[in-house]
Amino acid sequence: MPGAETAEAAEVRGFWERLGLPGLVDVHTHFMPERVLHKVWAYFDGLGPLTGGLEWPITYRAEEGERAALLREFGVRAFTAMLYPHKPGMARWLNGWAAGFAGRTPDCLHTATLFPEEDAPDYVRQALDEGARVFKAHVQVGAYDPADGLLDPVWGLLAEAGVPVVIHCGSGPAPGKHTGPEPIGRVLARHPRLRLVVAHLGMPEYEDFLALAERYPEVRLDTTMAFTDFSEGYAPFPRRALTRLADLGDRVLLGSDFPNIPYPYVHQLHALERLGLGDAWLRAVCHDNAARLFRI
Ligand SMILES: [Zn+2]
Repeated sequence: MPGAETAEAAEVRGFWERLGLPGLVDVHTHFMPERVLHKVWAYFDGLGPLTGGLEWPITYRAEEGERAALLREFGVRAFTAMLYPHKPGMARWLNGWAAGFAGRTPDCLHTATLFPEEDAPDYVRQALDEGARVFKAHVQVGAYDPADGLLDPVWGLLAEAGVPVVIHCGSGPAPGKHTGPEPIGRVLARHPRLRLVVAHLGMPEYEDFLALAERYPEVRLDTTMAFTDFSEGYAPFPRRALTRLADLGDRVLLGSDFPNIPYPYVHQLHALERLGLGDAWLRAVCHDNAARLFRI
């Protein structure tokens, strides 16, 4: 549907042009080896337990090059390749793929991942040496305790490097054994300068994760799927917390979950706009905060 995509691109561009921005920075987009991505899509199609039984039709089921081109059409100046292992022995391989992807995709922030395993400090250091600018950790899919001792040196390395880690540690759309604010709170107690970016605004434990961000100045939140009709339907953001969200305006970052979303990309932007927090807040969230963090 090239026509529909072009119309959507015009709508997305209109959004950031009206705000006077040079484009968007999206810290939460998924690129991964094709066969892994196809497995993820099959998982959403099959309504696996981690989707919380929600109907989840993927909107942007296209080839890798087409997906990256669409982000460019939208005016996304920088994006990420969120990828993550569900078992040991996989992260190093994913990191190798992600380095190659970043090499051929200059507007992708070189992304890497991790898992609690003996060689994690080794491949995390290697990824940092190779120029990784952001990491992804998925506590729900990986089903590990982020405070696992095997990860302790890894969090130390990342805190020292000041490299952000986008982490899915909230209990949405379905809880995992180690999701929720408590396990990751133990990590932050040990590594208070760690630059965690809590994915999905910590959905559905929004207020607990806002509290972590209020307590630790290097903790940030990404907006991925938050405030959309889809998410408000099963995990509504509590209105009483809006002022806290406004106050954290310099540490909230646009994330979308592109391409694995059950609605058009522009809906995420409209969902942010209708919060009514104003243009300055939108400018910071949709571009400036991430541009500063990643020196774009
Ligand atoms: Zn995601």
